[in-house]
Amino acid sequence: MQRVRLRIEGRVQGVGFRPTVYRLARRFPLTGFVKNTGFGVLIEAQGEQNALNQFIACLQSEKPRQAVIESLQSEEINPLAENDFSITESVRSGDLCAGMPPDMAICALCRQELFDPGDRRRQYPFINCTDCGPRFSIIRALPYDRKRTTMASFQMCPACQEEFTDPLNRRFEAQPNACPVCGPRVELLDADFNAMAGDPIAGAIELLKAGKILAVKGIGGYHLCCDALNADAVRLLRERKKRPDKPLAVMFKSLPQIREYCRLTDEEAAELKSVAAPVVILQRKGKKSLADTERRLGQALAVNISPDTNDVGAFLPYAPLHCLILEEIAPLVMTSGNKRDEPIAINEDDLKNILGDIADAALTHNRPIVRRCDDSVLRIVRAGKIMLRRSRGFVPAAIRLPVSGPPVLACGAELKSTVCVTRGDRAFLSAHIGDLDDLRNYNFFQESVRDFLELLEVSPAVVAHDMHPDYVSTRYALGVDGVRREQIQHHHAHIASCLAEHQLAGKAIGIALDGTGYGTDGTIWGGEIMIADLCSFQRVGHFKQYPMPGGKEAVLEPARMALSILAVEFGADAEKMIEKHLPSIPGRERAVLLDMVGRKAHSPLTSSAGRLFDAVAALLGLGERVSYEGRAAVCLQALADKRVNRNYPYEIQEENGILVLSLAKTVRAIVGDLEQKKAGSHIAAMFHNTIAAALAEACVLIRQRYDLANKNFKDAAGPEAHALPIDSDKGRATASPPCRLNLNRVALSGGVFQNDFLLDKLTDCLKREGFEVYTNQIVPPNDGGISLGQAAVAAARNG
Ligand SMILES: [Zn+2]
Ligand SMILES: [Zn+2]
Repeated sequence: MQRVRLRIEGRVQGVGFRPTVYRLARRFPLTGFVKNTGFGVLIEAQGEQNALNQFIACLQSEKPRQAVIESLQSEEINPLAENDFSITESVRSGDLCAGMPPDMAICALCRQELFDPGDRRRQYPFINCTDCGPRFSIIRALPYDRKRTTMASFQMCPACQEEFTDPLNRRFEAQPNACPVCGPRVELLDADFNAMAGDPIAGAIELLKAGKILAVKGIGGYHLCCDALNADAVRLLRERKKRPDKPLAVMFKSLPQIREYCRLTDEEAAELKSVAAPVVILQRKGKKSLADTERRLGQALAVNISPDTNDVGAFLPYAPLHCLILEEIAPLVMTSGNKRDEPIAINEDDLKNILGDIADAALTHNRPIVRRCDDSVLRIVRAGKIMLRRSRGFVPAAIRLPVSGPPVLACGAELKSTVCVTRGDRAFLSAHIGDLDDLRNYNFFQESVRDFLELLEVSPAVVAHDMHPDYVSTRYALGVDGVRREQIQHHHAHIASCLAEHQLAGKAIGIALDGTGYGTDGTIWGGEIMIADLCSFQRVGHFKQYPMPGGKEAVLEPARMALSILAVEFGADAEKMIEKHLPSIPGRERAVLLDMVGRKAHSPLTSSAGRLFDAVAALLGLGERVSYEGRAAVCLQALADKRVNRNYPYEIQEENGILVLSLAKTVRAIVGDLEQKKAGSHIAAMFHNTIAAALAEACVLIRQRYDLANKNFKDAAGPEAHALPIDSDKGRATASPPCRLNLNRVALSGGVFQNDFLLDKLTDCLKREGFEVYTNQIVPPNDGGISLGQAAVAAARNG
C-alpha cells in the first residue's frame, strides 16, 4: 500500500478535471481526495503501486478535452487509514491561471442528446456539460461557480440539481447546467423588437430560407446570418453592413459539407473540430470539381462571400443553437453582429444598432453575455498556424513568457487592438477589440483593461505602450498614474511577440514587415530587419524609404504609392509612365501628387513593406481604392502564380552602417514586363520571390557581419560579455565591432506575414542558408499580437 501527493498545474479548473480524477480513482480503486488550490489541483491517492501508476498515466490520457497539464509533481507520503475517495471543498480557488477556461464548442455527447428524441434535453439550445459550453463569456467574477456567472438567476430544477451534485455524472459541477424546465429560453424578435408568435427556432429558419438577414445571439455575441447559397441575400447583407469586399465567414453543417465546397487537409479538419472551433481559412475547390458539386447538389456557394480571393473562412456549429439551425439550413454566412468596425453586439442595447438597420429579425435569448468575444480566425500553413484573430475559444488562456517580471499592463497598438496583462511569467491577452479610432471600440478597450486587471487581481507596476504619440492607446497609457511606463517601438514589439512565444530569451535576427509603425527616427517604419532580444533591438536593415503622398490617404489609395515610387525612380520619365500604368489617377490629381512628392509635402517617408505590395498591386491594376487596409496585397497574393520560382533584380546598399534593400531595379523590371504584356500572375509571383530573396540575402550579410564565430558558435543565449552594443532608444546602429552572437535564428512577424505565399518563400530561402525560422503560432503576426510583445519587453526590462 502506497500514498502519493500529486500537484498538478495548468488549466485544470472549470474543465471537469476533479470529476475525472474521482472516476479514475474509483476505477482502480484508490482512496484519498482531490481538491482545487490556488495553483491548480492537489491529489492524494493511496493504493497498490501498479494501480497508482496506471492512475497517473490515465490522468494524462483521459483528461477532459479542455484540460492542459503543464506540470505534474509527485511525492510519496505516509499511507493513512481511510476507505473512500472524495472531492474536497477548496480553501481558495479560482486563480485565473488555473480557473477560467475559454468558451468551449458543444461536445459529441451533448450533440447526440440534442438530436435524441427520447432525451429530456432534445432540441434544447442551451445543453452543455463539464466538457462543453460557455465559460469566459458568462463568468462575472472568480472563483468560477454558478452564482458568479450569468446563470445565477436560473434556479436548477431537481433533475438538473441531481446531475450537478453527482460526481459520477458528466454534468457534475457543470456550472451552466440547464434544461427546458429550468434554463434560458430563445425568443424571435421582429424588426420592431416585438416577440413573434410560434416556435422561435422554426421561425428563424423560415426567415433564413426566405433570404432574410437574421441576428442570432451566440456565445460571445450576435452574428448576422444569411443563406450562403443565396447571392442576393449576401449582397443585401454587404450593403446594409457597408462592407463591400472583406471576406465573410461561412458556417457549414458538418465536415462532409465543407468538403463539398472546399479543399480540406487533416490538420484543417482537426482545427475546425477542436474545442475552440475557430474560423479556418480554406481554399475553394477548383472550378471543375466545384462544378461537379454544384451539378450534384444543384446549388453553389455565393461568389460574393469572398470576392477578392479563392478563400473561404469556414467554421462548424459550436453552440447547440447553431446545430439546430444549421440542421435545417446550411451553409450560412455568419459574420460578427456589428455595424462596420464597431464592437460585436452582446445585449439588448447593442441589438438596437443592428436590428432593423441590418437584420430583419433577431433570434435572441435570456442568458446574458458578460464579455464580447468575436470568433477566432486562423489559417493552417506549412509553418504551422497563422492566427489572424485570437478571440473566442482561446481567450483567456495564459501564454507563458520566457521571463518573469512585475505585473505589466500592455496597451497594444491602434488597429486590431488587444490588451495584455501579466502576472509572474504568465501573459493574458484580451479578446479582439478592433480599431481604436472608433469611440465605441475605445470604450470596449477600457472595459477590457478594467476586466482583466480585476479578474487577475493585479494592479500594474508597469504600463507598456507604443511610441506613436497619437495612438489613443498611447494616450490612455500616459494617463495612468503611479506606474512606470515603457514605450516600445512597434516592430520591436512584433519581433518580441514571436521571441516570447518560442521562449527565446537570447538575441535573434528579426524581420518585421507590416503596414505602418512609428519609428525611433520619427519616420514610418514597416520593412525592418533588426537584431533583437526581449530587452532591446538594433535596426540593422530596412527597405528603401519612399514618400507616402497624403499619408493615410495613400493607405486607402494604393496607386499613390505606385506613383511615388515611379516618381522617385524614373525622374523625368515618370509622368509618362504614370499616365500609362496608373490610369486610375486623373491628370490633375497626378500633377498635384507629383508636386507633393517632389516637394516632400504631406508625404511622410516610409520603409513599409505593406506599401510596396500596395504599389505593385496598383501597377497591376488591382485595388484602385480599397475598402480595407491591405486589400491590394491580398489581391496580389491571390493573383500570384505559385509555380514561378525566379525573381527580379534588387540591390542591397549600405547607408550609415545600415543595410538598405532597394527595389529600384525591381520596379524597372516590373514596368518592363508590363510593357511586354507579361501576365499579372507571373509578375505578382516574381515580386513575392524578390522580397523573399532580398530579405534572405540581407540576413546572410547580417550574420556574416555580426556573428563572426557563426560556424561553431553554439551558446544559445550568449554571455552578456559578448553582447552587441545596442542603442535601443535611438534604434540607430552604433559601431559594429565583431562580436559573438548566435544569429542563426530569424523571427518573422508583422501583418505582411499573413501572406503565406511570402512566408513559405522566405522560409525556404532562409532555411537554405542554414537559418532556423520562427513565426507566431499563438498570437497573430498582425497588430493583434503587439500587446503580447509589449508585455514581454516590459517584463524583461523590469524583471
Ligand atoms: Zn457537452
Ligand atoms: Zn433543469
